[in-house]
Amino acid sequence: MNISPARYGCVCFAVPRKILAQMANDTDDDEDRRHLGKHAAQSSMLRGHRAVLHQHKPEAHPGRQALHRQVFDANRSTLLPGNLLRDEGGPPARDKVANQAYDNVGIALQFYKTVLARASVDGKGERIQVSVHYDDRFPNAMWTGRQVIVGDGDGRHFKGFAQSLGIIAHEFSHGVMQHMVPGGLGVVQVTGKPPALKGEAGALNESFCDVFASMIKQWHAGQDVAAADWLVGEDILTPGNGNAIRSLKEPGNDKLTCKGDDQVSDYRHYKATSDAHTGSGIANHAFYIAASTLGGNSWEKLASVWFKGFDRLRPRATFLDAAHATIDVAATLHGKQSDAHRAVKDGWKRVNVLA
Ligand SMILES: [Zn+2]
Repeated sequence: MNISPARYGCVCFAVPRKILAQMANDTDDDEDRRHLGKHAAQSSMLRGHRAVLHQHKPEAHPGRQALHRQVFDANRSTLLPGNLLRDEGGPPARDKVANQAYDNVGIALQFYKTVLARASVDGKGERIQVSVHYDDRFPNAMWTGRQVIVGDGDGRHFKGFAQSLGIIAHEFSHGVMQHMVPGGLGVVQVTGKPPALKGEAGALNESFCDVFASMIKQWHAGQDVAAADWLVGEDILTPGNGNAIRSLKEPGNDKLTCKGDDQVSDYRHYKATSDAHTGSGIANHAFYIAASTLGGNSWEKLASVWFKGFDRLRPRATFLDAAHATIDVAATLHGKQSDAHRAVKDGWKRVNVLA
């Protein structure tokens, strides 16, 4: 089967393999260990992804409405998209989880439309499909390259993912990113394997999605940079299993997040071989510093800086490329030596991407 990289931008999971593996390692329950271990292993992701590619129906003409959502029930299988539960403008579904997914995708769509004047992931109002109840107690959420899928979680470590605005906004942003950088930012395609995010560019792709997930949460809650928690996935873990999966304020501080969080926030600690979710902490923290230095609402000056800066990147971009692009856009949009320009520069300096 031929997979066009333009359509299948990446297979992007919300919860990194390391966190799942850590939980599998720590649990006393054999069934829990088997279930989490299976999802931590790359092979099960491969199997699931093949099902995704084969079962996805060809898309009809994409809608041109500003918001066009469809939520499907995957019926605890990996066959996508599943049965339609709710369509744009239709009555709420009986299924609470479907309505949560519908509402959260709506918030992400509204953010991009209102703050960045971007209509959906492709800028042309593409219909967004979300499948809930994906697989059996699937402890993750994902952008498949065509749609969002969310699991119900195993109930022991993870709650359902549909109710998490940050997770849905993160996965939706992978869809946006797919259309911004033709060929995919950090997307590496190896025959026989699903597309994966690699290197600095892959980490930048992950970071873009965390940064926008964080801004979307703040925008929705009306929170300024001081009030914000700067966490992603603060609402998906069950008690006793940690607080969140990532922190932009303190990447890798597992007291704020959970065991297995190995994010780095300093470029001097970056390793090219690590997971894209690990190096993403560097750019996440650069954004956090820029936004907190500037103060006020993060999205007002910096959403367009980050968006337009990342829009200039090429598939194999480096952290330094992202630094130069965002600093340049900040100067263009807000003026050279403006507070925003200085704050963005300061952010990249403090994480040691810029000397
Ligand atoms: Zn991601």
